[in-house]
Order: sequence, then C-alpha cells, then structure tokens
Amino acid sequence: MCCGTWQPCAPTAWSPRTSRTGTTSSTASWTTRRKDGDDMATRVNPRLLSEIKRYGAFDISACFNCGNCTAVCPLSKDNDAFPRRMIRYAQLGLDEHLISNKELWLCQHCGDCSETCPRQAGPAEFMAASRRYAISQFDPSGLARSLHLSTVRSLAIMGILGVVFAGLLLWKSAGVPTDPATQFSTATMLDFVPFHVLHDVGIAVFVLLAVVALLTLGNMLWMLAHAPVPGGVGQPDGTPRRFPLSAAFRALWLTLSEVLLHRRQRDYDNEQTRPALLPVRRWFLHLCILAGFGGLAAATTLDYLLKDPDLHVMPWSPIRLLGILSGLVFTYGTSVVIIKRLFAKRQPGPKATASQRYYAHTVKSDWLFLWLLWLVSVTGFVLTAAIYLPVGATWLYGVFLVHVVLAMELLILMPFTKFAHVIYRPVAIWYQHFRRLRAPSN
Ligand code: SF4
Ligand code: SF4
Repeated sequence: MCCGTWQPCAPTAWSPRTSRTGTTSSTASWTTRRKDGDDMATRVNPRLLSEIKRYGAFDISACFNCGNCTAVCPLSKDNDAFPRRMIRYAQLGLDEHLISNKELWLCQHCGDCSETCPRQAGPAEFMAASRRYAISQFDPSGLARSLHLSTVRSLAIMGILGVVFAGLLLWKSAGVPTDPATQFSTATMLDFVPFHVLHDVGIAVFVLLAVVALLTLGNMLWMLAHAPVPGGVGQPDGTPRRFPLSAAFRALWLTLSEVLLHRRQRDYDNEQTRPALLPVRRWFLHLCILAGFGGLAAATTLDYLLKDPDLHVMPWSPIRLLGILSGLVFTYGTSVVIIKRLFAKRQPGPKATASQRYYAHTVKSDWLFLWLLWLVSVTGFVLTAAIYLPVGATWLYGVFLVHVVLAMELLILMPFTKFAHVIYRPVAIWYQHFRRLRAPSN
C-alpha cells in the first residue's frame, strides 16, 4: 500500500478486524513496522474518502497522484509530498494520519494546487473539507458534525440555544418602557436586561467556552504531538527532555506577528496575474474581519471593566470610538465576503482565479458562520446608532435581545464551527515554529 510520499516504504501487513457481531467490520488495522523495530497498528477507515466528500471535497477520488499539486504548493518546500500525501491518506482511509497533520491548518487555501490539477480534483477544496472533518473529529460531543453536515440540526441547535439564552436574559426583565417618549439608551437597555443578569450569563458563556475550547484543543495538541511521520515509519521517541521554554516563547512571538500581520495569507496571495483591488482582496477582507472582531472584543471588555454601565458616553470617547471603528471594519469585511460568496459562479470555469474557486465552494457551515458574524455586527450597529439618535421605538429592544443572544451563540459554538480555525490555525503555526526552533541545527 503506497502512502504517497517519497520516503522508503515500511514493511506493512493488513489484518481486517472482526466486529463485535462476528462479521468483518468496515474498519481494519494496518500494521506498520517502526524504526525501532516495534510493530504499530494503524486504524484504517475505508469510508474516509466518502466521509470527507460530505464536508465539501467534491471530486478528490479523481486524483491519480501525479504530484502537480505538490510541485506548486508553497508548503511543500519544507514538507515533502504535501498536499498529495494528505490525499493519499484519505484514499487509504488513514484518518488519524490526516487529522493529526499540522499542515492541514497551515494551508491557507491559496488555490494554486487546484489551478494546476490536471484532473480537476480540487485539492485545495479537499484540504478545506479535511479541516471541517478535523474540527468534527476533535469534538467528541458530535455537535460539530451536526453543525457541519445538517441544516435542520444546525437550525434546531441554534433555535434551542436562542430560546435558552433569551429566557435567561429576560428572566428578571423590567420590560420595555411603556412611555413612547422615552429615549432609547444604555440605561433603558439595562432595564430590559438587567446588568447583573447580562454579567452572570456572559461569565457562564465564557467559562463554558474556555472548558470546551481547552478540551478540543487538548485533543488537537495530543494528535499533533503523536502525528505519524511521513512514510508511515517512525514515531516521536519518548525520551524525556527539558521543555524548551525559550523556543516556545520565540515560536509564540513569531506566531502572533504572522497571524496579526496576515503574513502567510499575503505571501500565498496568488492573484498576482489578475490582482483584485486591495479593498476586495481575500487576505485584506479576512484581516478586516479579524481586526474588527478583535477591536469589538477589546472595546466590550474595556467598557465592562472601566465604564459605569448606566453612564451615557459620547461617540468620540476612546472606548466607544474603538467600538464604532472596529464595528465598521468588521461589518465591511463580513458584508463584502457574503456578497462575493452569494454572487460567485457555482461552477467556476477552468480560467477561474483561485479566489473565484474559493468563493464558489461555499458550504452550509461557511454560511452559518458568516451570517452569524454579519447579524451580530449589523444589530450592534443599529443599537449604537439608536443610542445617539432621538428614537425610542420598542422594536429596538428586540434588536438588543437578538444581538446579545446571537453574540452568545457565536461564542459558545466557537469550537464547533468554522470559527474554530481561530484556535487551531495559530496553534498549528506555533507548533511548526516550535518544532523548527528546537530541531538540532546541522
Ligand atoms: S495535482 Fe490533482 S491529480 Fe495530481 S496529485 Fe494533486 S490532486 Fe492528485
Ligand atoms: S491551497 Fe495552497 S497552501 Fe493549500 S495545499 Fe493547495 S497549494 Fe498548498
């Protein structure tokens, strides 16, 4: 059995596993001889390829292993046979090999590989689908799988969470002001949803998010640390060593600068031949969404820590200004991305750019995430504008409730949706730097 790499083959032997019912099961084990001479059993999932197709890899079975994608991929400089190796893992059913690879998260979906694939197998889309599959595999609850694969279950989960959050928030509500002349303000919002209720539910959401994120992240780190090396031979040895703290901090610094400046996305921006204008470039829009979200999170935290909740502040006060500018950037980024995805041709032709291909392959879970982001940003804007305009309409309290409920849903579902890449990608980048920095120099 070929693993698709350029490493020498390891001696292997297939041994189908017997299910509890006594019939041959759909999984099998593959015995690989390690460098140290021990045999290691590898779980094989024959349904892996069809499973990944459900997450959006439209035609990867057309791949005939020519290696064109590896020749053009910017990541294959350091990592032999990437992404061809990943495709082979999927074809062979080696799901643990597939999801434990940090390269899965280092791929920026630049699309070079799909553009050069002679079989139109869509290796870039395969990588995106594999990331969705990995998010589902890191989550033992099965929630991520439902959110990625089933619209009905996604809507049911969102609906149930929405009802629970709305019920908790309105539990001690004083209701909306009955006098139509009452100006909509922070104070009236906090009569509608009392500050202590907002505070307590918010803290509960953050604690729950932290616990779930740590669990799924722990799962990912465990897999990264035990990732099989290319070629199926050799495993990280278990020799105890002192933890290289300086390498860890240096890797953290490199990761932060890379993520915040979007260096990797800009390097892999392959729209050089037909470049789009900067305001609609993919990396720029992603940066807008990231920066806008970060600014809004910072403004909300500072508001909570430093400001009297009932106090009315002017739009040019520093924290409010940070919130308004971040909200503008965030809304711009999410709106343009949604428009681009809505108007992308579903069947991009052979001359389509990598960006056109990227937007064309939008799956249900992308929409769920994007619409959530957009609704949170737009409702936030309506509320901010209403505070400074002479209006007192009661529907604004409905907007406030929707805004808070959706923001809480967005946060609590973070480890289960596309949002999870905010956790997994920086960790993979950190791990790549860390491994490189601690490797003995020649
Ligand atoms: S270029 Fe296409 S056919 Fe060739 S190895 Fe990559 S995915 Fe397979
Ligand atoms: S999308 Fe770009 S980074 Fe990802 S595998 Fe293809 S060529 Fe490599």
